[in-house]
Amino acid sequence: MNTSFIDERRITEVLQEARPPQNTRLRDILERAETLSGLGLVDTADLLMATGEDRLQIMEAAGRIKRKVYGDRVVIFAPLYLHNECINNCLYCSFRQDNEEAVRRNLTPQEAVDEARALAARGHRRLLLVCGEHPRLSSAACIAETAQAIYAGADIRRLHVNAAPLSVDDFRTLQEAGIGVFQVFQETYHRKTYAAMHPSGRKADYNWRVTAMDRAMAAGIGDVGMGVLFGLYDHKFEILALLQHSAHLRETFGVGAHTVSVPRLRPAAGAILQRAPYPVDDEQFQLVVAVLRLALPYAGIVLTTREAPGMRDELLAAGVSQISAGSSTSPGGYLDKDREIAAVDQFKVYDNRSLKKVLKAVCNKGYIPSFCTACYRKERTGAGFYHIAGRGELEKLCLPNALLTFKEYLQAENGQLKEQGEEIIHKALNDINDKHMRKQVKDRLARIEQGERDILF
Ligand code: SAM
Ligand code: SF4
Repeated sequence: MNTSFIDERRITEVLQEARPPQNTRLRDILERAETLSGLGLVDTADLLMATGEDRLQIMEAAGRIKRKVYGDRVVIFAPLYLHNECINNCLYCSFRQDNEEAVRRNLTPQEAVDEARALAARGHRRLLLVCGEHPRLSSAACIAETAQAIYAGADIRRLHVNAAPLSVDDFRTLQEAGIGVFQVFQETYHRKTYAAMHPSGRKADYNWRVTAMDRAMAAGIGDVGMGVLFGLYDHKFEILALLQHSAHLRETFGVGAHTVSVPRLRPAAGAILQRAPYPVDDEQFQLVVAVLRLALPYAGIVLTTREAPGMRDELLAAGVSQISAGSSTSPGGYLDKDREIAAVDQFKVYDNRSLKKVLKAVCNKGYIPSFCTACYRKERTGAGFYHIAGRGELEKLCLPNALLTFKEYLQAENGQLKEQGEEIIHKALNDINDKHMRKQVKDRLARIEQGERDILF
């Protein structure tokens, strides 16, 4: 397949011409961004050069845009690692094949269900299945079998997947198993760096990876998640390439990236790469997140526990809409914690707070945690999702769903978070303008208090 949609020459040209946007130009770009029409490569490249006060202005604009599209909600999820067997040798990852120190672990479907139950007991409803690349263990059949076992055996309402690229037929198998978003991070869009970082195994093939989304969409998976591993190459190049990738999908399938993840390189035991060749410092990283929010206003921006607690809490105000919480990056990590031999972690988690602590921080910052999974279950996916979001109607359904799912979470809570959460729900309920909707939400909240579960709009 033709992969010229990642046009390195064009990106290099744009970056050579890029200048920090001055007064009127900055104002003009921010005003356009706030109409939610997205940004092109030239504007994006200029914004990525901003410093000082201008950088802060961009972050504030990102916060306003996020509010317009997603309101005050922050979606919560946890990763569930299925195995750490891998045929690749990515220089930055503990799971790489040649890492002889890695303790390998492969969960049976029943063990995966047990992990999912443990996460459900803590309050999670949305999980991201993650695994290494292995001809059998990461095959569509294996992932689909595990997904179906979890749906049947645990109170988990949506499973997303982050795994190696598949063929169209294999993506269809996953689609039929009812997975939500399929994520593949390109790691780096820069071909030369990609070749150096991925010396062997299937992942060495850049073209196979960069066309994964096309095959997923051709198979009927409406929501695809993109990402770049920041630290491998120039972050400005990566952002422009990611925009080209998303634009290519939009032109071909009518819908671009559903989510964008922003992993920054973390230390990983047994990895070859111990330091980022292109480190992205905290200020640059905050700007990256904000600029992505401006450039792709409707995409979910996903921030994981690779970042420090303070950074995670702060970035809620600069465009992040989804966060993981209480995460483990090893297969069996939720139940094996107390055992002596634990499988190796993929990388070191930075934010080790429990789910409850993260929820408290989200509430303290004035946001509403959401465990909602309704879009995927009510078929508001792919182009349909964008249609609803573009009409500004997401807010009418998503806020009520956030309140209902947070209320459900709080039923098992007591103490300060319960009190604070109930207050947040009460206030948000009273802020719903539509009288009819307000009454419907109020009734449903009361039903949850009576013990009913999984009520959604
Ligand atoms: N094995 C599959 C793959 O590589 O696409 C899917 C899952 S992989 C475990 C998930 C992601 O973790 C990778 O795409 C990569 O971006 C990220 N990752 C790997 N090593 C990392 C590290 N040391 N620090 C931060 N993220 C890392
Ligand atoms: Fe394997 Fe993925 Fe780690 Fe690469 S990043 S070694 S493909 S698990």
